[in-house]
Amino acid sequence: MRDEVSWGVTRPMRSPLLTASVYAMPDLDTLDRVLTGKETGYIYARDAHPNSTSLAAQLNRWHGATWGLITGTGMSALSLAFLGLVQPGDRIVSSRSIYGRTRQLLDQELARFGVRTDGVDTNDLDAVRRCLQQPTRVLFVETISNPLLRIADISALAELAHAAQACLFIDNTFASPLLCRPLELGADLVMESLTKMISGHSDVTLGYLGGREATLAARMQQIRSIWGFSGNPFDCWLTERGMETLHLRMQAACANAARLAQWLTTQPRVRRVIYPDLPEHPDHALAQRLLPAGRGNMLGLELEGGRDEVNQWLRRVPGIPFCPSLGDTQTTCSHPDTTSHRYDSAAEKAAQGITPGLIRLSVGCEPFEQLQAELARGFGNR
Ligand SMILES: *Cc1c(COP(=O)(O)O)cnc(C)c1O
Repeated sequence: MRDEVSWGVTRPMRSPLLTASVYAMPDLDTLDRVLTGKETGYIYARDAHPNSTSLAAQLNRWHGATWGLITGTGMSALSLAFLGLVQPGDRIVSSRSIYGRTRQLLDQELARFGVRTDGVDTNDLDAVRRCLQQPTRVLFVETISNPLLRIADISALAELAHAAQACLFIDNTFASPLLCRPLELGADLVMESLTKMISGHSDVTLGYLGGREATLAARMQQIRSIWGFSGNPFDCWLTERGMETLHLRMQAACANAARLAQWLTTQPRVRRVIYPDLPEHPDHALAQRLLPAGRGNMLGLELEGGRDEVNQWLRRVPGIPFCPSLGDTQTTCSHPDTTSHRYDSAAEKAAQGITPGLIRLSVGCEPFEQLQAELARGFGNR
């Protein structure tokens, strides 16, 4: 028999990390009361554990969700949502401009189960309306798309989806609930890869799926447990800790990104800068309306010389680590053509504008001058 931990009449300032995978019950009657929800308790960590409950509660508050579930990765939150929503024979309509692994989930994995996905330019509302004339179960879109930072007009898309009896599901990872709360704009489901800005320190993989329709909650919870999509307590604990500074990190990173975007437009070896706050961005006006608190920390820059020049640039800026993720306190960079969108066809990449010269920056919270000096090294300026 192990001793119980106790902290007496004081309370710990940090919520405890409870690593237990299983909980003990005094008798059968208690088991029944916990399983039927008459009494609070935990039984098995794959079904629920205290650290994921408190993390989900915090994210539910931010998103205005009535229910929310933590999953082991962002991809498992996406898998969970689609598994809970579709049946063989159903059709999904998806934005063309989405994360490469999500594209594979739709086109390769769900296709194996007889679920068809049609792509559409979700910034062309007439095209979306036409596409939704065929029976559709789900309309899927990213708030800020990866990597070209196209902005989704969520309220307009929600109207179109609902008129067609489809449900609108949003990947809000690039925005986070601090910049955008899709459920408040009419979306039915929202997911976040907590791996990125929300945990914020490149030491966690987790996902979140939340919504407002109560009937979906029990179903999604069951699917999470059966398919084994749950997240572990330590990652939940780290993420809760990271979330305490999310507003500060996001503010600093958005401000850095906006200044950097301006400066990069003046650099001779840069062919194109992609940032929703720049007037030349196709969704500039939409971004002002949808993302009033900031246009995000993601930024694209296309170098003149393509792949060779990207290679040279990366070697000259070791202070901006080349790694295929985002949302760290430190500025990092990635190369969509060979990482996030590696498995997209050449035609798909060309259609989206993902070129060999495109670098994606995840701007962090460093002092701006330090960041600028490091990037300038890449252009051989100093
Ligand atoms: C990273 C990412 C995902 C997947 O999240 P993981 O936590 O890596 O599984 C999904 N969507 C977007 C937009 C992402 O950037």
